[in-house]
Formats: sequence, C-alpha cells, structure tokens
Amino acid sequence: MEQKRIEGLWDCVFCETKMIRARYEACPNCGKPRGIDTLFYLPDDIMAATLTGEETKKTTNEPDWLCEYCDHYNRSDEPVCIKCGAPRDRGGETYGTIHHLTGKEF
Ligand SMILES: [Zn+2]
Ligand SMILES: [Zn+2]
Repeated sequence: MEQKRIEGLWDCVFCETKMIRARYEACPNCGKPRGIDTLFYLPDDIMAATLTGEETKKTTNEPDWLCEYCDHYNRSDEPVCIKCGAPRDRGGETYGTIHHLTGKEF
C-alpha cells in the first residue's frame, strides 16, 4: 500500500498571508522564512492537497538539521546549508538535529 501524504499549510506571521503550502520554506509574499515553531494545519480540500507519488518522494519524515555556522534550519535531505553553504556533516560529526515540536536534540 502506498502511503498518502497531505501537504500542510501555514500562515505567515509577518504579513498574514494565509494557507502557504508546506513546500515553501519562506513566505512567497514577503519572503520571510517561516519559524521553527510554525504550526501546520490541514487544508479544507484534502484531496487537492494530497501529494502525488512523485511529490511524496520529495518529502521526508526526517527532522530538519541546524547549521552550526548560521543557525539556519535545513531540510534533512539538504547535504549543505542552503543559507551559508556549510557542509552538514564535517569529519563525521553529527550535527544537532531538531524536531519541529520537541526542540533541540543533541
Ligand atoms: Zn509573509
Ligand atoms: Zn548555515
């Protein structure tokens, strides 16, 4: 059985743009990145938000990771920090990871 994934929505707290899709890490209106404590919610139209198989492959259950150089949170599948370009895993060290709701884990 293929597992369906629903793409959540979030609201920008800076410009109050609503229902931004989870794939956007920054507000498409004002460009501010969403905070790590951003709350996601499900859209009214679940069917429309259900990801296709191809899109599901791009999503991940892995926690984001924190860049130790610039404190930017990156998706688990980003090998380098998308903000400053620092490598995720330097010399075999495991960098801190974060779970959206439980805070830092080291
Ligand atoms: Zn905004
Ligand atoms: Zn960085």
